[in-house]
Amino acid sequence: ANSLLSGLPTTIFSVISALAVEHRAINLGQGFPDTEGPADMVDAAADALRDGRNQYPPLAGLPELRGAVARSNARFYGIAVDPAREVVVTCGATEAITASLMALVNRGDEVVVFEPLYDTYVPVLEMLGAVVRKVRLAPPHWDLPRAELAAAFGPRTKAILLNTPMNPTGKVFTRDELEFIAGLLAQHDAYAVCDEVYEHLTFGAARHLPLMTLPGMRERTIRIGSAGKSFSMTGWKVGYVTAPAPLADLVMKAHQLLTFTVAPNLQRAVAMGLDKDTAYFHQLADGMRGARDTLADGLARAGLSVLPSDGSYFLIADIAPLGFAGDDVAFCQQMIRDVGVAAIPVSAFYDSRGTDIPARYVRFAFCKKAEVIAGAVARLQSVR
Ligand code: PMP
Ligand code: GLN
Repeated sequence: ANSLLSGLPTTIFSVISALAVEHRAINLGQGFPDTEGPADMVDAAADALRDGRNQYPPLAGLPELRGAVARSNARFYGIAVDPAREVVVTCGATEAITASLMALVNRGDEVVVFEPLYDTYVPVLEMLGAVVRKVRLAPPHWDLPRAELAAAFGPRTKAILLNTPMNPTGKVFTRDELEFIAGLLAQHDAYAVCDEVYEHLTFGAARHLPLMTLPGMRERTIRIGSAGKSFSMTGWKVGYVTAPAPLADLVMKAHQLLTFTVAPNLQRAVAMGLDKDTAYFHQLADGMRGARDTLADGLARAGLSVLPSDGSYFLIADIAPLGFAGDDVAFCQQMIRDVGVAAIPVSAFYDSRGTDIPARYVRFAFCKKAEVIAGAVARLQSVR
């Protein structure tokens, strides 16, 4: 059948993972940890199944998880949240993003996004009939192009879709940049959908700051988190939305249409996870920072130029110094086949209909065990 989805390619993450399996390559492509998440959460999920948590939970999520999301907002960011009216539990951040855009966007509304971008953003916006206004960030620092961003806003702007810490760049938006965005949202009476799945994964001096905490933004912002990222349980697909009550109500209606509810035992376990000591979240980031440093060092020794990454599971390396004759896609294919390491070509994070898409950057995931990173680094020394 011919439909709006006919032209949508299979996601690059699945394509590269399949190639990695086929060629027995070490998979630093798709962003998923190769460790189990916290054992106490696994036990809590298993116990909940045996306790008979097996029927439809409430539409907006289990009260205990909504409460934990509210407490997490208060503890980390000082955001006061009414768990009964301002939190919705979704099937991963993926559903949360789609549901939030369904909640806000009418046909013809303009939505501002930053490119490179996560692969669901543009197709979902186009299915909703939105006009997508893309603003490109430029490597290596991905600084906010302020004049261009201001020019992307206009009388038809409904929202900005903002991802910080950002996949694939590892950029963590600064307070100054967020204040500039907040100013535009206030000026144009627009909303923000904030994909903050990597909120607990920032390194060094970088700190995640939710746009929602800035003056005037509480009533305009939908903030999205993911248990997959915060607890290294990407297969669980538990996400959570924090939004002012009128917006949360609309997100809940979209959720009612998309999936209706999320496995109750997993919700119970995630509630327990969100209440973990602050030390847990710091250790998660510390471990990831160590892996980032080892990988960055190994890539540099292999002759690639490594871009800074202040957050997320990812870093980007520039292959130009290698003098490779093809583009990033060809490089990734050859690296999987001949070197035995899989990574994602960064051009996949651009709207393929665009022009001047950079073709010399490759994204590596470092959310892997030390020995796996070490193995990849050893193999990579042959790319020169
Ligand atoms: N947004 C970004 C920026 C991501 O990188 C990901 C996935 N890793 C998601 C959303 C989806 O999160 P989830 O697995 O919770 O659906
Ligand atoms: N978000 C993960 C990544 O960027 C992949 C998620 C997916 O495969 N859909 O690698």
